[in-house]
Amino acid sequence: MIAAQLLAYYFTQLKDDQVKKIDKYLYAMRFSDETLRDIMARFRREMENGLGGDTNPTATVKMLPTFVRSIPDGSEKGDFIALDLGGSNFRILRVKVSHEKKQTVQMESQIYETPEDIIHGSGSRLFDHVAECLGDFMEKQKIKDKKLPVGFTFSFPCAHSKLDEAVLLTWTKRFKASGVEGMDVVKLLNKAIKKRGVSTGTNACYMEELRHIDMVEGDEGRMCINTEWGAFGDDGTLEDIRTEFDREIDRGSLNPGKQLFEKMVSGMYMGELVRLILVKMAKEGLLFEGRITPELLTKGKFETKHVSAIEKSKEGLTKAKEILTRLGVEPSEDDCIAVQHVCAIVSFRSANLIAATLGAILTRLKDNKNSPRLRTTVGIDGSLYKMHPQYSRRLHKTVRRLVPESDVRFLLSESGSGKGAAMVTAWASRLADQTRQIAETLAEFRLTKEQLLEVKKRMRTEIQNGLSKNTQSTATVKMLPTYVRSTPDGTENGDFLALDLGGTNFRVLLVKIRSGKKRTVEMHNKIYAIPIEVMQGTGEELFDHIVYCISDFLDYMGMKNGRLPLGFTFSFPCRQTSLDAGILVTWTKGFKATDCEGEDVVGLLRDAIKRREEFDLDVVAIVNDTVGTMMTCAYEEPTCEVGLIAGTGSNACYMEEMRNIETVDGVDGRMCVNMEWGAFGDNGCLDDIRTQYDTAVDDLSLNAGKQKYEKMCSGMYLGEIVRNILIDLTKRGFLFRGQISETLKTRGIFETKFLSQIESDRLALLQVRSILQHLGLDSTCDDSIIVKEVCGAVSRRAAQLCGAGMAAVVDKIRENRGLDHLDITVGVDGTLYKLHPHFSRIMHQTVKELAPKCNVNFLLSEDGSGKGAALITAVGCRLRQQEQKS
Ligand code: ADP
Ligand code: MG
Repeated sequence: MIAAQLLAYYFTQLKDDQVKKIDKYLYAMRFSDETLRDIMARFRREMENGLGGDTNPTATVKMLPTFVRSIPDGSEKGDFIALDLGGSNFRILRVKVSHEKKQTVQMESQIYETPEDIIHGSGSRLFDHVAECLGDFMEKQKIKDKKLPVGFTFSFPCAHSKLDEAVLLTWTKRFKASGVEGMDVVKLLNKAIKKRGVSTGTNACYMEELRHIDMVEGDEGRMCINTEWGAFGDDGTLEDIRTEFDREIDRGSLNPGKQLFEKMVSGMYMGELVRLILVKMAKEGLLFEGRITPELLTKGKFETKHVSAIEKSKEGLTKAKEILTRLGVEPSEDDCIAVQHVCAIVSFRSANLIAATLGAILTRLKDNKNSPRLRTTVGIDGSLYKMHPQYSRRLHKTVRRLVPESDVRFLLSESGSGKGAAMVTAWASRLADQTRQIAETLAEFRLTKEQLLEVKKRMRTEIQNGLSKNTQSTATVKMLPTYVRSTPDGTENGDFLALDLGGTNFRVLLVKIRSGKKRTVEMHNKIYAIPIEVMQGTGEELFDHIVYCISDFLDYMGMKNGRLPLGFTFSFPCRQTSLDAGILVTWTKGFKATDCEGEDVVGLLRDAIKRREEFDLDVVAIVNDTVGTMMTCAYEEPTCEVGLIAGTGSNACYMEEMRNIETVDGVDGRMCVNMEWGAFGDNGCLDDIRTQYDTAVDDLSLNAGKQKYEKMCSGMYLGEIVRNILIDLTKRGFLFRGQISETLKTRGIFETKFLSQIESDRLALLQVRSILQHLGLDSTCDDSIIVKEVCGAVSRRAAQLCGAGMAAVVDKIRENRGLDHLDITVGVDGTLYKLHPHFSRIMHQTVKELAPKCNVNFLLSEDGSGKGAALITAVGCRLRQQEQKS
């Protein structure tokens, strides 16, 4: 009894002595918490360097964005293949993700040998090998004919600029195939697969707040960042804690000077580290009585799995005896205890260092979230973590000690990277599918030059129909004569009243035109609202309201007594029989007052003036805003013979030869024709390019089936088209997390001015998001990108269609005049044209491409509806005086 106790005491004593001896010998591998906190701070700095745009190029910890923007969200399903290259084995997996009630993942996998000569041979051989294995796998799985998406877990530092691209920065671990660094491995793999006709490293992936990744545009949402922390220390940051053994390992490695942190912590080097320590200790006579055997001196003879075995609490010492005996060193009891402790120190150091870097990531996550405590789950993979008896417990303990303000749960990810690859594959194919579907949707808005030439041709046909006597009555593009026979000549003079009705605002203006050497136009105006109930009430109410506004304006200007000539800009299709008579063909835009269609608008105005019995006015001209715009520009620039509106509505006018206007007697000279081109397409001639969204906008409008071209081109509708696309994309789950908000359901919420804002090149994604948020559309960064694309597609088509119409007009004028080449100016008005960042440029370019024989100059009109109306009125007064004289 006593002898046994004594022996036990003696043994413990002996063990303590040995442990103390080793502790002292390897003191450089044992870190205090203070040192670990210091390493944590260093790693934190490295991460920040890696994330910073300026500092990234020289940073060792590259913090590579993976373009995986969110962790698999559970909605992925399907059948996938995952390749896992970079661990100790090359694996191929088939993963079936389904979710009936609960998401289930089914996996079958096979490991393929990757011989040393392939790992160190040429890159093309390596990828051929991978492809060959893949072929074999597919054959065995009997999925040779299935086209399954393939995910590629490639555990080496890669730069991604998109999800399916990975440029290998440098080989690490035992790989060294030539001609692969700097290449896109996904491409190499695909090439190899096509040609055929068919974890030992440590690394961390985590979700980084996107706003901290300078290298990736964006602000919201998170992206999976591959820290590539293996390179930590490559700039010398860790020199003070590296030991002679670490240096020796590095010198003997395939990539000296690189991946220094990895070489201190990863399972791949752990056995070798222990071996080097044992060799040195033996040489110094501290172990094995100084015996050194060739086995002990052989690289790779002491493996990491031996470290795990020796550290087992119960049979560890027995294992040590076995393993060391195999190395031929004839170990004593003492030696076994000593070697066990060496293993513990080396593996403990690894766990401590990982804890420090993980701690740095966790504190960063916590700071990002701006919360005092962090709850998170870390997914961990790697055989060291799984197989080593103490490793995981030590790691957890140290992490919790270093970051006490966090609740970390550690989750062993079962066959982690393979499943991860499949998840990412699923995610990627879902994303690619979405991107493709969104692109397909928007492709309907992309018109080819051939299509645009066809639109131009059809417009030309419709113009002809509108001008010809036989077809005129049924023509959609009405080509209404305006009785404006000439552009201003500068002799116009006098004070005029003008009304501008038909746009967003109703305005009354006083315009003072002075002729002579110094021509001047002075204008005073007041804007009046037209309540929607008046716009859509009775005609009498509408005109009474107009006259009430005139009355107010005259009071305001103090000129109720004079009988001023008045020009009435009325921007709706009117069939004119003279300058001062116009029958409303149909309301457009937002107007719908009763008893007006088919009536002479000037008559309705005169009646209302009479009803009020307050003042008298001389209504001289009824003017379309396109004509007013043309006249205003022509006053400055005599070559201006075309007017264009790109505002609430879309319309144009131009000077046509009298001989071509069969609806008006006379063949001499020219007359301005109000095209009313907004109705282009009402006979179905544009149906082949109209989309379901155009149909939806039309169906919900006040004038369904009418103004089809206008509804594709003008400010009143572009936002609505966008809204309808967004609703559809949301329904299909591509936007706003699939949630259609009340806001999005609201008609008119997406005003065209938002297109202008969103499409501005100066705007960062962040600002786009804030615009959407302002609209009540809670969007992510990805949503903003999509919305911007949608806006761009819609406004581009609008500009191109408008340009195609204009090309038809200018080419007709050129042919009217029998010219090979025409120089002409178009006067333009409208907020869409003026304020949209791209509309005008794209429209100009389209005209240039579709009408190459015309040199078209666009001149912005300054208040065409007011000034132009006054000019036309002035011309009208002059003509009237001439008539009276004769
Ligand atoms: P109107 O054509 O009614 O006489 P405007 O030429 O001012 O008047 O056009 C107004 C239309 O322009 C609005 O109905 C709206 O659709 C559009 N719009 C307003 N602001 C913008 C903007 N910033 N960018 C593009 N379009 C705009
Ligand atoms: Mg206007």
